[in-house]
Amino acid sequence: MREFLIAGNWKMNGGNEANAELVSGIIAGVPDGDGFRLLVCPPFPYLAAVAAQLAGSKVALGAQSVSEHSAGAFTGETAPSMLRDVGCEYVIVGHSERRALFGESSEQVAEKFKAAQAAGLTPILCVGETLEEREAGATEKVIDEQLDAVLSAVGAAAFATGVIAYEPVWAIGTGMTASPEQAQDVHCHIRERLAQHDAELAADVQILYGGSMKGENAPGLLSMPDIDGGLIGGASLKASDFLAIARAAAEI
Ligand code: PEP
Repeated sequence: MREFLIAGNWKMNGGNEANAELVSGIIAGVPDGDGFRLLVCPPFPYLAAVAAQLAGSKVALGAQSVSEHSAGAFTGETAPSMLRDVGCEYVIVGHSERRALFGESSEQVAEKFKAAQAAGLTPILCVGETLEEREAGATEKVIDEQLDAVLSAVGAAAFATGVIAYEPVWAIGTGMTASPEQAQDVHCHIRERLAQHDAELAADVQILYGGSMKGENAPGLLSMPDIDGGLIGGASLKASDFLAIARAAAEI
C-alpha cells in the first residue's frame, strides 16, 4: 500500500527567521492520522537548523540537489554523505530548473540518483515535459528518455527506495496545473514503464505530482489512482498553504 508524500521544495527562498516560523507552523498543524508523510527541502545553508527544529516531529528533511561525487575538489558542491550528516533523508534530483538553468543532463541526473542512494538518501527523481514538447505530442517520449537514463544506470530495483515526481515544466510556478486526468495519464504511463522491468516494484513506487499544486486542486489530483503525493514549490512557503495540501492527503 503506497502512502502519500507531501514534499515542499523551498527553492532559493527563506532565511533564519522565516524558516523558523514556517517550520513551527507546519509542525503545529500536521494533520492527525497516517497514510501520509510530510517533507521539507530547504536551501543547503539552513538544513542543519531546520533538522534541529524538526527533531521529534513527524516532518522529514530533504535537500534540493546533490553532487554525484563523494568528496574532493568540487568547489561549491555538496556530497550525499554531507546531506546524511545533517539529517537529510531525501534529496531532489533532476528538477527541471537544474536541468534547464544549470545544464544537468539526464546522465548526470542518473549519477546523482545513484550517489544519493549509495549514501542512504532517498532520491526524488523529477521528470517532465515542456509546453512545446507536450504540444508536439512528445510527452511520453521525453519522460521515457529521462526515466530510462536512470533505469539504465541503476536498474529498476533501485526504485524500491526511490521516488519519482512528474513535474510538467509548463505547470511549475506558472499557476497552470495539469488536470487530474492529464496528470493521471502520465503517472500511469510512468508506472507501466517501470512495470516492464518489475511489476511488483512498479506497483509500490511513489509517484508525486508537481506543478502549481495548492489546497484547492490537491484533492482532485491526489484522488487519482497513480498520484501518490505532491512536490510543491510556491505553496510550500506558507504553513497554511502547505498544510491545506497535507490535509487533502490525510482525508483521502
Ligand atoms: C516545483 O518547482 O517543484 C514546483 C512544483 O513548483 P510550484 O509548486 O511552484 O509550481
